[in-house]
Amino acid sequence: MRIDLHIHTNRSKCSSMPVKDLIKIAARCGLDGIAITDHNTIKAWKEAKNLLRRLDSSLIFIRGEEISSKDGHILALGIQNVIKRNMSAEETIEKIHEQGGIAIFAHPFDYFRQHTTEEKLRGLEIDGIEVFNSRCILGYSNSKAKRLAAKMRVAQVAGSDAHFSGEVGNAYTIFKDAHSEADVIKAIKKCQTIPAGKNSPIFVHLETWLTKIKKRL
Ligand SMILES: [Zn+2]
Ligand SMILES: [Zn+2]
Repeated sequence: MRIDLHIHTNRSKCSSMPVKDLIKIAARCGLDGIAITDHNTIKAWKEAKNLLRRLDSSLIFIRGEEISSKDGHILALGIQNVIKRNMSAEETIEKIHEQGGIAIFAHPFDYFRQHTTEEKLRGLEIDGIEVFNSRCILGYSNSKAKRLAAKMRVAQVAGSDAHFSGEVGNAYTIFKDAHSEADVIKAIKKCQTIPAGKNSPIFVHLETWLTKIKKRL
């Protein structure tokens, strides 16, 4: 099963992708599941769930959020309610676990975006590290994350970090046997994940920046 665990919709300030486009493209590019991980909001969940039900889609939907902690971006998967931004990484992870979710550190060593240090990451109770993010410009940031995840024996996951339709499915995590959100969470806890994917073209960063400006106007 191929599941893209890091996707934004137009509920994020820097994305213009409607939920309906995301679902259409995810099915078309052969994904078996998607996690919607908007920045500090879960507003797209309801629309996604309703649409998947209406379409009788077999796509696995994972409730996610990308939380801006003071120490970097943390993906929360399988949570129930929104988790607020600007807490320390420790506090953010604690809130995720309280809700029965799992915490994955996103693009930890991407020096062009919010990032952290190896020392900081080693002290955190994370369940996984994003070892491949399609938007990391330098291969070094992904390979460093992969090496650390192996050393820390936490799950290695991948996601496209798509903000636009052309990016969906550029990276995904492979699960041997996962048919629901609960299965995905369980597999990540057991480190039964295989990261895979390719880089997105560099112009997507410019597009993100322009979208942010347009939305502010
Ligand atoms: Zn991020
Ligand atoms: Zn993201």
